[in-house]
Amino acid sequence: MEDLLQLKGKNIVIMGVANERSIAWGITKSLQKAGANLIFTYRLERSLGKLTQLLEKYDFSATHIAQCDVNSDESIHNAFNEIGEKVGVIHGVVHSVAFAHAEDLKGDFVDTSREGFAFAADTSAYSLVAVSKAAKPFMTEGGSVVTMSYLGAERVVPGYNVMGVAKAALEASMRYLTVDMGAQNVRVNAISAGPIRTLAAKGVPGFNDILKTIEEKAPLKKNVTQEEVGDMTLALLSNLSRGVTGEVIYVDSGYNIVG
Ligand code: NAD
Repeated sequence: MEDLLQLKGKNIVIMGVANERSIAWGITKSLQKAGANLIFTYRLERSLGKLTQLLEKYDFSATHIAQCDVNSDESIHNAFNEIGEKVGVIHGVVHSVAFAHAEDLKGDFVDTSREGFAFAADTSAYSLVAVSKAAKPFMTEGGSVVTMSYLGAERVVPGYNVMGVAKAALEASMRYLTVDMGAQNVRVNAISAGPIRTLAAKGVPGFNDILKTIEEKAPLKKNVTQEEVGDMTLALLSNLSRGVTGEVIYVDSGYNIVG
């Protein structure tokens, strides 16, 4: 099994740790157990402070930490070049970032502003394309890119609004990327995670109702944890999933199949 995991000494870039509740932190914990070299990107100094504290608290060490704002091509380019120069080869990228203006998640979807639509799509979907492009030159030994999606990409989830449209674009971008990245044996997949109480989730109106519905209706009758998403991300980054690309894998207690 250890051979199949094959993450010992692999350089994995984790984008999106804002705090201990972040899905990206759950992923970090799984990757640490598997012996991966942890490379982080952060957007704000505040997040860097939180990340540094977390690394100390858990006694994890980062191979490298780079600043990266996914709204800026220059920032993405600089971050991945810096990482590439430091580690030489990148084996995996975890894209766990998304953002929409709060006012575009409240109220009616029909009122979404042109700017708000573009901003949510830019930050939450186009960023996967730009990040893949920046990482590609360093993914010379094959590898895996994993992004985080949500059921709102395909169903109307009240309160998810413009972010649902951005996630639909994210999932389609993931599929198109598989061809270009696959040419150098890099796989690209998405995890559609069930709702988890994080900073980003705070912006979704009615989030508590969404959590309650899962407990009532999902086959497993419980909400998922960041550790559960972390372990599936680990599987998608590892050799266990070497034949899988272009998929949306649900880590949602089975909720998506319930009618
Ligand atoms: P989070 O708030 O902990 O993480 C979101 C991250 O996105 C933060 O670290 C933030 O700094 C980063 N980010 C936002 N704008 C950025 C930018 N311009 N440049 C760089 N980074 C930027 O919340 P989370 O719930 O862990 O979210 C991680 C991913 O999981 C997101 O894509 C989210 O949509 C997705 N997701 C979350 C849930 C949930 O219920 N929490 C469910 C399914 C999918």
